[in-house]
Amino acid sequence: MQDSDPHSAPIRPGQPHVVPRPEHNISRANISEQALRVLYRLRQENYQAHLVGGGVRDLLLGHEPKDFDIATDATPEQVRQVFRNCRLIGRRFRLAHVHFGRDIIEVATFRGGGSDDDTDTDADRQVRNGLIVRDNLYGTIEEDALRRDFTINALYYDIADFALIDYAGGLEDLRAGQLRLIGDPVQRYREDPVRMLRAVRFACKLGFSIEPATEHPLFELGHLLCDIPASRLFDELLKLFHSGYGLEVFDKLRHYGLFAHLFPATEACLAHEDHDFPITFVSRGLANTDKRLAEDKPVTPAFLYAVLLWEPVRRRWEELVAHGMASIEAILSASSEVCVEQQPLVAIPKRFSLPMREIWALQPRLEQRDGKRPYRLITHPRFRAAYDFLVLRAEAGEADAELADWWTRFQDASSQERARMTEPGVRRKRRPRRRRKPSGSSGEPAS
Ligand code: ATP
Ligand code: MG
Repeated sequence: MQDSDPHSAPIRPGQPHVVPRPEHNISRANISEQALRVLYRLRQENYQAHLVGGGVRDLLLGHEPKDFDIATDATPEQVRQVFRNCRLIGRRFRLAHVHFGRDIIEVATFRGGGSDDDTDTDADRQVRNGLIVRDNLYGTIEEDALRRDFTINALYYDIADFALIDYAGGLEDLRAGQLRLIGDPVQRYREDPVRMLRAVRFACKLGFSIEPATEHPLFELGHLLCDIPASRLFDELLKLFHSGYGLEVFDKLRHYGLFAHLFPATEACLAHEDHDFPITFVSRGLANTDKRLAEDKPVTPAFLYAVLLWEPVRRRWEELVAHGMASIEAILSASSEVCVEQQPLVAIPKRFSLPMREIWALQPRLEQRDGKRPYRLITHPRFRAAYDFLVLRAEAGEADAELADWWTRFQDASSQERARMTEPGVRRKRRPRRRRKPSGSSGEPAS
């Protein structure tokens, strides 16, 4: 994977930059006990054993790593022979998982180099139209380094002498706070378009800039995302949106035109202002999720996707109602239409898509406040999520703030107050729904 692009990382075959232990700040005290056990055990069996990827990167940055990935020259089968508590997983990438109770340490065998052109039909690596669909060729540590995505993710911590090994210029980029793909960026994105999403994720997570040659193709190559299995995209998007910086991720995905390839129906709605107001609902929903994560509150993909897909559902709902369909029936129909369109792109598992649809289906039911209905609704397992959703809609100026406020009061009201609140005819007749100025918006109301 030689590359003549002057912007790409200097790759000098066989000449890694080695930083001995006294000259770097990675201490074993900050590496998980289980990861250390795996590293030492592999070493004992005379295999190479390195910490690599996000673990090394985050330790060097002084962050607490999310997980510790290990790279070795032992094949997955050899790893399994060393550890009793080991399972082999993956077809596209065969990996060993060493289990310690609920914790898993992932051990990957050094991946081999070689060309990624379309003529490569080896059983261990399959490339279709430049996209790697199977990659189980094993190789040396250097080859492994150069097959990784970003230079800052290709740093190795060697358990044999605690030195850092850098084949791709990752230390320099880490210092400069920049993301740089190893090799030719366009080719690397074509091999695996998820790397575009990873670029956005790491830029947001680390606060890094994206080096120009790595950044430019992001504007052009979004269409490649349609080649990625929808279930993989679901997993990747969850990492992006449930990271604690989902709002920033959303803005960046839109900036690069990637969002439109993932959520075309939502993008089409966002591209239009509604009654002269920019649509702020998705941003508010994502900011809300970020806030919940910062407060260690639980979040669910059901709510996240309810937010991400709401604008097209709402539009379709309004259209169907305008054509005379009953509101409750219309929202079910709108939900189905939007889900059918979205599912081939990003596969939302049923355990999340069902509650997501319930959150939507409860929106018109929250408008029915007379008699026994509110009492029944409040016991619905999805009531709380649907109420939170209504509050967001009200804050975005799309639902009636008075309605959201009514439900806020109803939940805390005494039985006497509740009886009064649900008396038919107590409230003035509802005005037709119309988007109003969102709270905190600087936009002028439509004339
Ligand atoms: P984090 O775990 O904090 O999200 P990470 O960098 O460890 O970040 P992982 O998904 O755990 O990300 O992957 C571990 C390592 O595997 C990466 O650091 C990178 O070296 C390599 N890697 C992961 N995905 C890819 C990919 N799509 N292409 C090339 N290399 C990859
Ligand atoms: Mg990791």
